[in-house]
Amino acid sequence: MLSSEQIITHSERLSASGHWCLDLADDSLFWSPQVFRIHGLDPGAPQPDVETALAYYLAADQDRVREKFDYLRRTGEYVDFVARLRRHDGEVRYVRSIGEYVVRERDHPGYLLGVFRDITEEWVDARHQRRVALALEETAEAIIMTDPDGLITWCNSALIRVSGYSLSELQGRKPGQMLQGPDTDPDTVALMRDRLARDEPFVVEILNYGRDGGSYWVRLSVHADRDEHEGLLGYTGIQIDITESKRIRLNLEREIERRIELESQLRHLASHDALSDMPNRRHFFEQAARELGRCQRYGRPLSLVLFDLDAFKGLNDSLGHAAGDTVIRSIGALCRQTLREQDFAARIGGEEFTILLPETGIDGAYALAERLRQRLAATPIAIDGSSVHVTASFGVSEARPEDDTVDSLLARVDRALYAAKEAGRDRVRRMPAGANSND
Ligand code: GH3
Ligand code: MG
Ligand code: MG
Repeated sequence: MLSSEQIITHSERLSASGHWCLDLADDSLFWSPQVFRIHGLDPGAPQPDVETALAYYLAADQDRVREKFDYLRRTGEYVDFVARLRRHDGEVRYVRSIGEYVVRERDHPGYLLGVFRDITEEWVDARHQRRVALALEETAEAIIMTDPDGLITWCNSALIRVSGYSLSELQGRKPGQMLQGPDTDPDTVALMRDRLARDEPFVVEILNYGRDGGSYWVRLSVHADRDEHEGLLGYTGIQIDITESKRIRLNLEREIERRIELESQLRHLASHDALSDMPNRRHFFEQAARELGRCQRYGRPLSLVLFDLDAFKGLNDSLGHAAGDTVIRSIGALCRQTLREQDFAARIGGEEFTILLPETGIDGAYALAERLRQRLAATPIAIDGSSVHVTASFGVSEARPEDDTVDSLLARVDRALYAAKEAGRDRVRRMPAGANSND
């Protein structure tokens, strides 16, 4: 059998632990070979005295080490402490000493006996782990961890703060069950489930609820934690409160919508006549210039109709201005009912209206003007319980290659309109006059 000494030598090597013993009778110290090695010394070096041994500890740790030894010497009670020592080669190591008093015989001073171990690697690792845990605990992001079944095992103080729940209230429950509420978007929840089922990390913006029922927006990122030994350890969710930025963004979006709406109202007001809600004179000229340009460029037909209500002054005089306004409003409605999508009717004067007819030759324009004339004449307009019939005179012309401005085309339809008035009103005339002798 191995001797006790041999067993100790081998076990020292295996456990990387050394032993020391202080004989309290004469204060002589014994270091085992492993203690020498831990100090960076040759195991064959002479045994140190107590002061030499203590001098290996860093100055910052020495008082504490002395205290532990004094305590052990005084009380004989077990001590266990970690301190830093500077090895012979200058390197600083963390060592753990566990010591106790060993009785010799009655009324004689005994021994202090200790186990001594270099724990630098595990100490540094543990300190790093502690620091990571502290950082997770203290960070402003709310962190929640679950087991592989998705039940909460831990959360940090930010989550407790923002949710109002205590850790024990949350533990063993599902995050969704605790943190989601009536207005949490079900599509987002479904997306989260889907990603979890497919084992994919994800980031979502989701409405969470606190213990008091108040809601707050978070940007939540979730991932699975795995390690090589156990596989899936659980899931970690990290959430940042985005309530404020979300609110600002929503307000901004609403404001932008409001301004777009306002702008389109302003554009409409600037381009339309308030009474009839038809495009106004300026809008007509812009549109006509565009259409004329297109017609010239591509050689496509374009016609223009101009009409003026007949004897409107008389109607105003007999029925009043308000009645006249009602008639003007009804012209807008009549045009909308009679015209095609691409035709463009405008009110360019008091009771003067134009209609731009793209892709339409003079015959088509004439037919349309005639149809509108007949409809107008046949449609009674209700005014104050009774109704009136109104007629109009129409001039029609088609754009020609030499029409380089809208005015030149408009001058022709104006002459045609004048001809219609001259011929007795309530009729259509075109310019140049057609084969039809009525023109
Ligand atoms: P004609 O058949 O020759 O066209 O005779 P008319 O009386 O219609 O003569 P004219 O076209 O010159 O007269 C236009 C009249 O239309 C003058 C004005 O009293 C009336 N008027 C113009 N704008 C408005 C308006 O916005 N509202 C109302 N109620 N009347 C208007
Ligand atoms: Mg008139
Ligand atoms: Mg007029």
